This record gives sequence, structure tokens and C-alpha cells, in this order.
Amino acid sequence: MNHALSEMPIGIVGAGTMGLGIVALALRAGHPVWLYDTRAPALEQAGAVVEASLDRWVRRGELEPVEREACCQRLQLAYDLEALAPCGLVIEAIVENLSIKQALFTQLEALVAPDAILASNTSSISITALAAALEHPDRVVGMHFFNPATVLALVEVVRGEATAPQVIERVADLARAWGKEPVVCRSTPGFIVNRVARPFYAEALLALQEGAAVPATLDAAIRDAGGFRMGPLELMDLIGHDTNFAVTRSVYDAFFQDPRYRPSLIQQALVDAGWLGRKSGRGFYGYGADAKKPQVPLAKACPPPARIVCQGDFPSAETLCRLAAAADIEIDTHPGTGQLSLDGVLLRPTLGQTATALATETASTPLVLFDTWTDLERATLVVLTHADGCTEEQVAPAIGFFQALGKAVVVIDDLPGMLVTRTLCMLANEAAEAVCNGIASAEDVDRAMCLGVNYPIGPLAWADAFGNAQVVTVLDNLARAYPDGRYRASSLLRRKALTDTPWYVH
Ligand code: NAD
Repeated sequence: MNHALSEMPIGIVGAGTMGLGIVALALRAGHPVWLYDTRAPALEQAGAVVEASLDRWVRRGELEPVEREACCQRLQLAYDLEALAPCGLVIEAIVENLSIKQALFTQLEALVAPDAILASNTSSISITALAAALEHPDRVVGMHFFNPATVLALVEVVRGEATAPQVIERVADLARAWGKEPVVCRSTPGFIVNRVARPFYAEALLALQEGAAVPATLDAAIRDAGGFRMGPLELMDLIGHDTNFAVTRSVYDAFFQDPRYRPSLIQQALVDAGWLGRKSGRGFYGYGADAKKPQVPLAKACPPPARIVCQGDFPSAETLCRLAAAADIEIDTHPGTGQLSLDGVLLRPTLGQTATALATETASTPLVLFDTWTDLERATLVVLTHADGCTEEQVAPAIGFFQALGKAVVVIDDLPGMLVTRTLCMLANEAAEAVCNGIASAEDVDRAMCLGVNYPIGPLAWADAFGNAQVVTVLDNLARAYPDGRYRASSLLRRKALTDTPWYVH
């Protein structure tokens, strides 16, 4: 390719949701763009959609009006594929089907220059398999944009087994020039984001299946206790259950039915019913004009304990004591098994066992567990559970304690690892496994999760803050509760825990 990067003609195949976003990005960066689609009406409507994106940038002051006009003039609609012959890079964003994409690349290979790059925006198809049909598989690369492509910063640059290093470099440079943040990864099922994010949905679906809490509680826990922007169930309603279920199934099948990625019967039922979420007016929640806002069943107000005893150390002990002191609760400290003792109740963080299993240790003293989150200071909600057989009166001092710290409280059923802890530990485990399998570096996995799905902190940075040994303890306890392999700890995470080596050296 002899073109300066910004003048290189770009071909886009597929004038759908993703293709048109990518067209706008390429035009804004100064490229002449040829857009091709097998459906003429899609091409005819394309101009207006692209102009709407350009107008948004103009309104926000991100594009000069005069540049907007130049962008429009650089767009050429191609009514046959041959028009894409001068393109130095062709990005396909057509239907998600291996043989149709392979056939397109075979046609394109015969048209474009020998050094032109062929990129796919596929979300789930192997780049290695896509390239295998070509004479020069080294020119094929994944360029995975996130929806909406004009807004989200992440681009996964996906390396197939045969992709040439200079192709990866060139595509990553181009993504940067288009204002994106490229993250390079190996072509394995789900790449980074669609793989590492699976437990975010799966753990909530499992908690729901086990009747641990109602949907509104589950979402509130992950949002208001866990610090995520959205809860997993409301997010699935937004994405659409058909799409989310299809991605889960494709990752599960691609990993040869590894139980770690097993899809949920609950989601299957939603898809079967046509309750696909917001787009169909009903999913976990209703979206009609008369739909009621889902209520979180918060615990009623309880009196705070006058005094607490902090026995030994445990995750969040320091924060809890600081918050208690600020709320004028008297604190005694004693050596002992990490827990708080308050008005005849013991309070411990969950480490993956049920309260019912642990209650055998605490004999006649009632035991309450709280969902651990390192940033208890910022959390507005605290999730509690208790051993089977505990009465409301017995749990009341624990509820009153957190309420006195200014937190809303929900009490859920006795689920191992509760909600936030099991989700975060499984996200960290999946991220560790991706690093272990050489898919991307720890930094890149974390960056991809923060940019691609808006996580407040990367799963591995969180594992460092929580303690890798603690994450492994939770996973091992979950693996005892569910001995089907789903919760097996990544060998790399286990090594980090054993050697007390963080993912990041500060
Ligand atoms: P879409 O259905 O909105 O658009 C696809 C377009 O491709 C249609 O206009 C169709 O006419 C055209 N097309 C189909 N077969 C063709 C062919 N053989 N030659 C030329 N044009 C053809 O689809 P989309 O949502 O934009 O997805 C496109 C690709 O991007 C898929 O591979 C998908 O997995 C991936 N992707 C989608 C999203 C998303 O959220 N929609 C996100 C990331 C990646």
C-alpha cells in the first residue's frame, strides 16, 4: 500500500448498523470510502444515516461544518463489488455467517492489490477460519468495533493464526487515527470482551434460577453495591435476549461445552416466549406505557447496635470500623476469627460458603454474611444473607448496623458467594484465564473490559485490590458447592495467589 494512512481508500461491505458507523468514522478521518451492500435499498438509505452521525459530531463541535461537506463528498456508493478494487483496506460488516464471509473475502482477494488488508467486524467467527479459504491468509485480521461504533472507543484487533504482524500494526494505527483505542488479541471464542463478560450475565441468571433474589434486587446489588453502571438483567433486556443468548451459545459451543459458559434455561425461556427485552416491550421487566418501575425489597429500618466487637482481621474490616466510628458506634477490637460481633449476631464477609454451612462453626450464635466489596465506603447498598433458620429479630442488628452507616440493605437467600462477590470473582477468573491462554496481556484485558462494556475497574485490577488469594478461596468454595467444573480457578490465578504476585506492580 503506497497511500498515506489518512488517504488510503477504504472499502466497507455491509450497509447495516455496524457498517454505517464504520463508514462515518473512516470519512471523518479523511479517507475516501466505497460502500457496498447486496441490497440496493440499504445503500440508498445509507447516506442519510451517515450524515446523521456527521451532524451529531458537528453539533458537539467535534467536526467543522466544512469538513462535514468534504466527508459527504468522499463517500461513494458501490453497486458492484469491483468498485472496491482500489481500496487498501476492506472491512466487512455483513451477516454473521462463516461461509458467506469466506465467499466475500475470496471475491475481494481477486480484486484488491496484493498488499490490501481484509478485515472482519465479526463478533464471534474465528479469524483463522475466515482466512483459511484465502490464498494470502496473512492479510486477514479482525477489526471488532462495538455498537454504536461512532461512540464506543474500543476496537479489538484480532490476530488469526496466519495474520502478519505488520497487518496487526497497521490496523491498530488506523484505529488510533480514527480516534479509537485498539486492543490486540488472539482469535479465540468471544475474543476478549464477549468472553470475559460471560459471568456478568451467567452468575445473575444462576442466582435467579436458584431463587436467591428477585430481578430488581439482583440488578441493584451489582449496580449499587458492586459499582457497575447497569445490573446484568437490565443490561440483557437492553442488549436483547436473542442477541445475548446467541453469543452465550456460540461461546459455549466454541469451547466444546465447557460448563463455565453454560447458557441458562431462564434466558432460553425468554427467547422462546419472544420476551426479548426493551425492543419487544418485555424481558425481565416490562417496558410498556403502563409498566411499573421495579421495586427493590429493601429491609425495614432496624435499630443500630450500640457497640460492636471487631474480632481479628477480615476483608473490609478496616473500612467497616472507620464507618462505624463515624456513625458514633462504639468499637472494641479483639483477636479472633475475622468477624464482627454485634448484639448477639456474628457478621462476616462471604468467602463463597453458605451461611448455613458456616453456622455449624458458630454454634448457637446466629451468623449473617455480607457481600464483600472493597469499596464499601462508596456502596449505597449492602447485601446480606443468613443461615437457614435465623429469625428476623436475630438478623435485625446486622441490618441496623449497615443502615446506621448510611447504607440501604437487602437480604437475599443463602446463595454461595452471594451476588457481587461471585460475579466479580468469576470475572477475574475469566480474565486470568484469557491472559493464561495468551489471548491478551492483563493490561489489555482490563482496558478492553473498561472501554468495551464500561466496567468501573478492570477485573484483574479488582482481583489485586481484593487479593488474588481471596479470589481463589471464593472460587474453591464455589467449586465445592457446584462440583461441575464451572468454578475451577484458572491455573495462572492460582499461581498469582500462591506467590502473592499482583497483576500490576504499583
Ligand atoms: P445488519 O444486519 O445491521 O447489517 C448487515 C448488512 O449486510 C445488511 O445491510 C445486509 O444487506 C448486508 N449483507 C448481507 N450479506 C451481504 C453480502 N454477502 N454482501 C454484501 N452485503 C451483505 O448487521 P450488523 O448488526 O451491522 O452486523 C454486521 C456484522 O458486525 C456481523 O458480523 C456482526 O456479528 C458484527 N457486529 C455486530 C454488532 C452489533 O451490535 N450489531 C456489534 C459488533 C459486531
